[in-house]
Amino acid sequence: MDKNKNTYKLLCIVCPEGCEIEATEIDGEFAFEKGICKRGQDYARQEIINPCRFLTTTVRIKGGVQTMLPVRTSEAISKDKLAEAMQQIASIETTAPIKLGEVICSNVANTGIPLVASKTVAAI
Ligand code: SF4
Repeated sequence: MDKNKNTYKLLCIVCPEGCEIEATEIDGEFAFEKGICKRGQDYARQEIINPCRFLTTTVRIKGGVQTMLPVRTSEAISKDKLAEAMQQIASIETTAPIKLGEVICSNVANTGIPLVASKTVAAI
């Protein structure tokens, strides 16, 4: 029986070495060229199966010394969820004071991952 085989080429962004990675997937199992470290292999697997990114953006804040609050997801979320997350975040307005790391939304785009403040904003 023929095996289901796919080959992928990626640029690893985990460290400044920036290795080119060639990964071969055969029936769901991945094989890598010699010299690709474990972190690179984990990155490549994740990028192929379910690429994820940290989302950084801003939400409106009222009663603060500034009108926009920088926020980010506490973990990387699936790229497939980024548009839904941005739509949800656009409707959020929070109130000062807010502390760095405070949870602004507990469940971004139904991922179970929270959105947290990237900055402390004092009240006026
Ligand atoms: S494969 Fe390993 S050494 Fe190369 S860029 Fe990725 S993490 Fe760095």
